Amino acid sequence: MAEIALSAHAALSEACAPSAAHLATTAQLAEIRHIVHTDLVPLVGTIDADGTYPEAVLRALGGAGAYSAHVGGAAGTMPDLWTAIEAMSIAGEHCLSTAFCMWCQDALGWYIHASDNEELKADLGQRVARGEALGGTALSNPMKAFYGIERMRLKGRRVDGGYEVKGLLPWVSNLGPDHYFGAIFEVENGAGGHVMAVLDCSAPGMKITQNDNFVALDGTRTFAVQVRDVFVPDKMLLADPLDAYLQRIRAGFILLQAGMAFGLIRGCVKLMQQVKGSLGHVNQYLEKQPEDFEVLLAQLETVVEELCRTPFSKDPAYFRKVVEARLAAGEASVEAAHYAMLHQGARGYVAQGAAQRRLREAYFVAIVTPATKQLRKMLAEIES
Ligand SMILES: Cc1cc2nc3c(=O)[nH]c(=O)nc-3n(C[C@H](O)[C@H](O)[C@H](O)COP(=O)(O)OP(=O)(O)OC[C@H]3O[C@@H](n4cnc5c(N)ncnc54)[C@H](O)[C@@H]3O)c2cc1C
Repeated sequence: MAEIALSAHAALSEACAPSAAHLATTAQLAEIRHIVHTDLVPLVGTIDADGTYPEAVLRALGGAGAYSAHVGGAAGTMPDLWTAIEAMSIAGEHCLSTAFCMWCQDALGWYIHASDNEELKADLGQRVARGEALGGTALSNPMKAFYGIERMRLKGRRVDGGYEVKGLLPWVSNLGPDHYFGAIFEVENGAGGHVMAVLDCSAPGMKITQNDNFVALDGTRTFAVQVRDVFVPDKMLLADPLDAYLQRIRAGFILLQAGMAFGLIRGCVKLMQQVKGSLGHVNQYLEKQPEDFEVLLAQLETVVEELCRTPFSKDPAYFRKVVEARLAAGEASVEAAHYAMLHQGARGYVAQGAAQRRLREAYFVAIVTPATKQLRKMLAEIES
């Protein structure tokens, strides 16, 4: 199926002369690849072992356009989520911490871009798209809360000129003292309901602390966030009320995560291929070969690229496909990393071995919200 889709894609490419936009995208991706090879690859071991946050790399990637494709389009044009996914996967092929920070940044830009807050779009939105302002997203808790998995952790009160927000979030990534993140809070007074806003880590009452060390992804500046009666001005609001806006952002939020999965799977295929010469005589007996994952990856890419064309679709069948694709990407990540480990053998099991790192990283794709279990719950509810 993937081969047919891919050859059709190639025929289409030959028939059409490349547009200026396509050439610009190709040049941007080449620049991103260059930054990843020169600046990120030498850091990967340190990011994993010491939890180093690759801030300079993240900013350089922003300068090269990694966070702008899905938010920078001219008025009326469709956001290009696919290019954002490709950019993320280039980093994810080597380091999932960096790819996840890119997703956090992309999600923040996505929220701002999808809002009606023109002032925020023109200022912070542009700085986020260029990687000058960094940040992330605190939507795991509300995403789970809206599916009945846990309770809302942030509460807000309408006050003069904005909201006063309080609560505690256990894990928000890609943060720092001058960073921002998108968050949803439940309104306790007035009309009630939920509101989404961008929160500023430097606002009075905000406190970020590193409470946990993780088995991987420690270079992502994942902090606990205490929000103590923080004033969130109206100019930072993304949606009030939330419902229609949430539907607008949810497919993009999920689809963008494919960049982490695709990069990781590609990296695992390379690890399997790397040992073909020396261990192929015995690795051939393993149930899955690198070629199997190449086919699986091409199939997933074809599906996600297609879904990226209509991120604002309100069709329930479309959203179901998004959820299915996300589930498949998480499961393929874990399976590819498992087989990379089996193919690499002892050289992948040493402390500096890439295969054991990829295996630890891969589970993150399957547990970050929406986690495998939540995706299965969502599908079960769609069924019923
Ligand atoms: C490295 C990392 C980065 C993350 N970055 C973000 C982010 O940027 N934004 C965001 O919104 N979410 C973030 N999360 C949260 C993530 O998206 C998931 O919500 C989380 O992994 C749990 O998802 P789950 O559905 O498997 O829930 P489960 O693990 O099944 O349940 C989660 C709940 O269990 C409880 N719990 C379990 N273990 C602990 C523990 N050790 N300490 C405290 N509470 C615990 C908490 O109540 C928590 O809400 C991050 C998680 C990790 C591990």
